[in-house]
Amino acid sequence: AGALAGYLVDRDALAVDGRLGEGRFGCVRFAVLREPGAPPRPVAVKALREGAAPAEEGEFLREASTLASLDHENVIRFVGVCAGDGPPLMLMEHAFFGDLLAYLRTRRHLVEGAATEDAEGPCLGAEEAAHVSAAELTRLAREAASALGYLAGRGVVHRDVRASNCLVDARRTLKLSDFGLARQVGAGDDGAEYACRRRGLFPVLWMAPESLKDGVFSSASDVWSFGVLATELVTLGARPFGAWPPLRVLQYVNDGGQPPLPPDANPQTRALATLCWRRRPEQRPSAAELVAYLATNARALRPALWR
Ligand code: ATP
Repeated sequence: AGALAGYLVDRDALAVDGRLGEGRFGCVRFAVLREPGAPPRPVAVKALREGAAPAEEGEFLREASTLASLDHENVIRFVGVCAGDGPPLMLMEHAFFGDLLAYLRTRRHLVEGAATEDAEGPCLGAEEAAHVSAAELTRLAREAASALGYLAGRGVVHRDVRASNCLVDARRTLKLSDFGLARQVGAGDDGAEYACRRRGLFPVLWMAPESLKDGVFSSASDVWSFGVLATELVTLGARPFGAWPPLRVLQYVNDGGQPPLPPDANPQTRALATLCWRRRPEQRPSAAELVAYLATNARALRPALWR
């Protein structure tokens, strides 16, 4: 926790409000931080739940110090920690639109609702109800790739890249979040790997074959997961592999299978995803190459819903 000493926030400066979501360690709440000499600031507060094991507290603080060491437009900003009396708290920048999966699914609902005149759809203005554009999907993908490029350059492997771990702020900018599984693999050492000995809960549907088989994680395995995230983007939040249970997915990917895309996915989406899903990690594009491609082809990812 030494690395966090400079980030201590006074618990009394926090006015904690409603729940934003549920995390592994406890719940995430909205709060306003009022520190002397600074304007009030909306933050998200992650709490370690009461009665957590010391190992969990260690992981919680590890996540906080990972986040504290990062500084990028597309990575959720770390604000500070509260220690001392009461449960440890981790403060982050608040992302107004919440997680990307919910953001996408709301838009899918609006698209379907617009077609069926669904009276129960969320009540939003005309602009909100607009069909999600290829330009927006492609920008979101580019921002996620940009975060991954930054992490790769710092030798950090995220290991849990997926829509539900991205957040969307008030300006609709994507912020990569949830660094609970992130590991340092070397200082900008391209191709460095993290070999995992412990078999815990892993996001099988987003995992590269080498991670499933050998527990090996690298910036290239994050790129595989990015390809799966691209399918979540174009399908507006469909679950990868549909209703398949994780064990079936594991077998299928081990045997050379790739995540499915809807039949009407456009050729650029298919081409991009297929590059990310190359069997050999060293043959996948780097995150920087993905950024460059998505910047030049600003409408590469088009909505393609499963019917
Ligand atoms: P898991 O590992 O199960 O995904 P976690 O413990 O890492 O959970 P998060 O995913 O970080 O927890 O947070 C849980 C939920 O809380 C998110 O899905 C999101 O809806 C909400 N949330 C988290 N951080 C923020 C934030 N900075 N701004 C707005 N909402 C947030």
